[in-house]
Amino acid sequence: MKKACKICKKIIETGNICPNCKSGDTTSSFQGTVVVFDIESEIAKKLGIGTTGKYALRV
Ligand SMILES: [Zn+2]
Repeated sequence: MKKACKICKKIIETGNICPNCKSGDTTSSFQGTVVVFDIESEIAKKLGIGTTGKYALRV
């Protein structure tokens, strides 16, 4: 089951550690998924995302 990091909202495909911020504070009960291709995009700025990848909208 996919999980999302509670800290940075990164979707974690495998394992329990966020590859982004190395946090183990994850949840499987996240809502929505957004794929960020451009960190300069509106959605990335709104969510405070600093790297590209898949993120949860709400954790
Ligand atoms: Zn994280």
